[in-house]
Amino acid sequence: MVADKAGVKTKRHGTGDRLALLWLRQDLRLADNQALHAAMADADRVLPVFVLDQEAGGPWAPGGASLWWLHHSLAALGEAYGKLGTRLILRRGDASTIITELARETGADIVHCGMAHEPWLRRLDAGVAASLQADGRKLATHRVATLFDLDGIRSKTGTRYGVYTPFANTCRALPDPEQPLPAPKKIAGPVRLPNSDRLEDWCLLPTAPDWAGSMRDTWTPGEVGASRRLHDFLDSRLDGYGASRDIPGDPKGTSMLSPHLHWGELSATQVWYAAREAAAKLNGVRAGGFERFQGELLWHEFAAYLLRHNPAMPEDPLRPAFARLPWRDDAKGLQAWQRGRTGIPIVDAGMRQLWQLGWMHNRVRMITASYLVKHMLVSWQQGEAWFWDALVDADLATNSASWQWVAGTGTDSQPFFRVFNPVTQGRKFDADGLYVRQYVPELKSLPDRWLHEPWAAPDVVLKKAGIVLDHDYPRPIVGLDEGRDRALKAFRETVQHR
Ligand code: FAD
Repeated sequence: MVADKAGVKTKRHGTGDRLALLWLRQDLRLADNQALHAAMADADRVLPVFVLDQEAGGPWAPGGASLWWLHHSLAALGEAYGKLGTRLILRRGDASTIITELARETGADIVHCGMAHEPWLRRLDAGVAASLQADGRKLATHRVATLFDLDGIRSKTGTRYGVYTPFANTCRALPDPEQPLPAPKKIAGPVRLPNSDRLEDWCLLPTAPDWAGSMRDTWTPGEVGASRRLHDFLDSRLDGYGASRDIPGDPKGTSMLSPHLHWGELSATQVWYAAREAAAKLNGVRAGGFERFQGELLWHEFAAYLLRHNPAMPEDPLRPAFARLPWRDDAKGLQAWQRGRTGIPIVDAGMRQLWQLGWMHNRVRMITASYLVKHMLVSWQQGEAWFWDALVDADLATNSASWQWVAGTGTDSQPFFRVFNPVTQGRKFDADGLYVRQYVPELKSLPDRWLHEPWAAPDVVLKKAGIVLDHDYPRPIVGLDEGRDRALKAFRETVQHR
């Protein structure tokens, strides 16, 4: 035992045995992980640790679908670290205490971690940094999730951006992000391993009922699955992305990389460079879907930027006047929306896709969210909370920014008077009905002409399709004109009374 600078007794290793802790959170990968890289540069031995602290996150701790993902991602990461020569330690409880004690127990004088944007994680980091410092140790944070240094991005007059386009233009004019780092080939672990929980004992997987069947068939959480999905997308779909990204029934429409990006099984930088390389091979970086795809990665970046500078964004409207909106309390309607029983086929298809896959196509996220906040006049915060629990890609920044965008309460929103008509949206983006027929099979025999508005179909058509309204499929819980007029009145009055 030796006394360190702060006089705290630690079990320090001898020369050649300097150990660094790597505190993993949303950077569950080996390649292009700046925190891991810095830990290896700093010390001879590296001990990776993941702490499950559901208390610290409060309402924004990972929800049910995210925990399912986390289980599988940690299992894959634990195996990968084991193969390289160290071991992933799992602990559950108060992260602040656990990290400080683990640093003491292993004699690590530095803890490396990825930089977080979530307000609760930033508070936690500040607490951990303070208690490590009191012990004579240090917390070092590294940019692991974004392409650029978000704190450095300002307009020419020095103000922060509240609107996407100038933000994205500024990003595009910046020097390229740093080249991705390779995965290490070997990592020396500690001489004596601290105790670790068993992942199975955390019970993160659903059992009664087991609702994860379709999720298992759809996803492969972990770095290997992420890389496979990235290359599958780039090899065959990047070129057509611009045209097909809005078609939810097109199985090749979008990359489905969002949960991998959220959990950091891939970095945005890796995706950025791989996409550019693939586009260059195709027909040049300006061609095909590359620019459009790059634009979506910048939306992701913009959401993180907004949350960093507006920590109340998940709870409060960015435009404070909208805090006075007269939202309806409609528990029955909310439940119908959550279960995909609103009587509006494209909305119900989206909500059922969300339930089955833990994921929903972006176009349909916009339609379902708009139906909730406009036609039903139920608060965006209630929709946000349901998405939070149900999405495998639930991301505090993107989820809250997107809900505010749809609701018209954000700084860069669609104007509140633009209300998506779900029938028109359905006809336009699911013209052949592939998407609705997949997720609302009770409507599959309806001809395309009536598929998006079964309540308007003549009796003879319904009969031929074997549908009895209110028995096989509900009538709309809110009339489309009635809901739209009510929303416009409520939003307009709120704006006028500022
Ligand atoms: P692709 O089209 O292949 O895009 C590639 C990547 O770009 C995505 O993986 C994602 O990281 C980013 N991206 C794409 N579209 C957007 C967007 N509109 N805003 C920000 N980033 C984008 N995305 C999440 O990752 N987590 C969420 O919790 C989330 N909640 C949302 C809630 C609502 C109400 C809405 C309208 C959108 C939400 N999104 C969220 C954004 C978007 O729907 C998803 O990122 C996208 O559908 C993921 O599918 P993909 O990976 O196939 O996207």
